[in-house]
Amino acid sequence: AFRALLTEKPADGAVRSSVQTLDEDRLPPGDVTVAVEWSGLNYKDGLCVLDKGRLVRAFPHVGGIDFAGIVTDSADPRYHVGDRVVLTGWRVGETHWGGFAERARVRADWLVPLPEGLSTRQAMIFGTAGLAAAMAVERLEALGVQPGSGEIAVTGASGGVGSLALLLLAAAGFRAVAVTGRTDGADDLLRLGASRVAGRDEITGEPPKPLEAARWAGAIDNVGGETLGRLLRQLSPGGAVAAVGNASGIGFEGSVLPFLLRGVTLAGIDSVTHPYERRVASWQRIASAFDAGRLEPLVSEIGLDAVPEAAARILRGETRGRVLVRP
Ligand code: NAP
Repeated sequence: AFRALLTEKPADGAVRSSVQTLDEDRLPPGDVTVAVEWSGLNYKDGLCVLDKGRLVRAFPHVGGIDFAGIVTDSADPRYHVGDRVVLTGWRVGETHWGGFAERARVRADWLVPLPEGLSTRQAMIFGTAGLAAAMAVERLEALGVQPGSGEIAVTGASGGVGSLALLLLAAAGFRAVAVTGRTDGADDLLRLGASRVAGRDEITGEPPKPLEAARWAGAIDNVGGETLGRLLRQLSPGGAVAAVGNASGIGFEGSVLPFLLRGVTLAGIDSVTHPYERRVASWQRIASAFDAGRLEPLVSEIGLDAVPEAAARILRGETRGRVLVRP
């Protein structure tokens, strides 16, 4: 038997989650069973646990879109009992039971062996947020944005993706500007590697124009909405925005002018279906940039019972850094 945060939706429609002890035969089909050591809380977990955004289609459900742990049973030749693995994406925690439990059973194809030197807890300090951040940095580099090109704006900088993007950008030699609505946390953002901290109004404060003063070599945008539309008009020639998130909204306004007159790129990041070989490479980047001294101040830990309350906070934009879940 194992403990899990079971999210149920009774006939009256109100979703509720509680810690329950379940038999192993309740686990979904899959070829590898994992003893989950750590999971993490992401914005999407907030949506799933509180049943917003219709991501979860079948209840009862176990959320948790990422986890790291030890293999306890494997029918796949690539994984053996005792192997340390990390899982993010593939709609685990949405359409498949996820990491808010002591056990998870998944498809071997979805797993990545933990890179040498990274513990399961350290892997979850990054988690889905860190993988998306690593992919965004890799995408900007692939598009020719280089450390010498100029400043990189990171929006939603005190959130999970934002904080980790600051660390990864700094490790790769970029000048990363932390754009945040919470400048009281500026010291943390500077410690992570931000070259400076800016308020949100540096991007959205002035009235919009079809083209605005070019000031960013690139951007990693976790916010979407007006911010994304404005970033596109503020990119330097040849610049690129990696669109990662929608914390402020999904729609954005714009024109073709930045594309035609400055050759900018709007690059989408989808960490859910990131192919295996590139996942392994992204996790290597994470392992090489891992810096406990810089990251630990941003980490908080909770148990399964505290997940529903933390889920509500992350949807209100009130959590900082990474919230780790220890089942
Ligand atoms: P998070 O920890 O809640 O971070 C989001 C941050 O955005 C907040 O900390 C806040 O930062 C800022 N923010 C929140 N509401 C805002 C608003 N109304 N206007 C402007 N800024 C606002 O969430 P996360 O886990 O880092 O995820 C960030 C986004 O990336 C989410 O939309 C998530 O769904 C998405 N995501 C996408 C992928 C992918 O594969 N594409 C992977 C992971 C996450 P400040 O207080 O510093 O401004």
